[in-house]
Amino acid sequence: MENSKIEWTHHTFNSWIGCAHNSPGCLNCYAEAMMDKRYHRVKWGKDGTRSRTSESYWKQPHKWNRKAAERGVTETVFCASLADVFEDRDDLINWRLDLFDEVIEKTPNLIWLLLTKRVDVAAKFLQFRQVPSQVWLGQSICTQRESDVVIPKLAKLQKKVGGIFLSCEPLLEPLDLSALPANWCITGGESGPSARPCDVTWIRSIRDQCKSAEIPVFIKQLGSKPVGVPKLRSAKGGDAEEWPQDLRVREFPVFG
Ligand code: SF4
Repeated sequence: MENSKIEWTHHTFNSWIGCAHNSPGCLNCYAEAMMDKRYHRVKWGKDGTRSRTSESYWKQPHKWNRKAAERGVTETVFCASLADVFEDRDDLINWRLDLFDEVIEKTPNLIWLLLTKRVDVAAKFLQFRQVPSQVWLGQSICTQRESDVVIPKLAKLQKKVGGIFLSCEPLLEPLDLSALPANWCITGGESGPSARPCDVTWIRSIRDQCKSAEIPVFIKQLGSKPVGVPKLRSAKGGDAEEWPQDLRVREFPVFG
């Protein structure tokens, strides 16, 4: 994809960098490993620091928007890969408002895929706003417990935004998504040196549940420790050519 290494989006945008763990899925957070432990750009955690990205970087979505408009298309932006847009901290309030008012509102040819692990904060923020229809709200779900708590809350927000999506990654156990209110579902196993195993039957089950509910599903990767397939060459299990044919499902919703 154009400005992202992530297979399911055209662009990735981080309004700021830094976050705090908020889910079992955060245990091996790659953003923390990179931006705290490796580059020392911020201190991770509740009492850590957050770093706003540069003014020139904030201009990029406007450039993507102009190009998309010229071509008469819409393109997707994943926001954020190195933070959580809805982290609840006083120092992020104005940055979040800037993101909505100065960037999202002014880029109608971009579909904003806001992925959070904090649906309660998202609900509070979106409650009194006129949310542009190109905003899609996504929640990460790794365990059944998270699913049971989060899905009813997401369902309440579905009419407020352009679409709802789930990111079931890293998938840590089988999930029953029977009450699924989503317009799109992304799933995959965990990657990295400390990755936890992901049984491909869990991924197949999500694929089948989405199919029954007529929800497009995107299988991103089988993870670094996939169970139920022969050893893969790709470290993240992200090369679909190596997978059993039935797992090669990479569907997109109709955005708009
Ligand atoms: S919410 Fe995302 S960015 Fe924040 S700690 Fe968890 S995995 Fe990392």
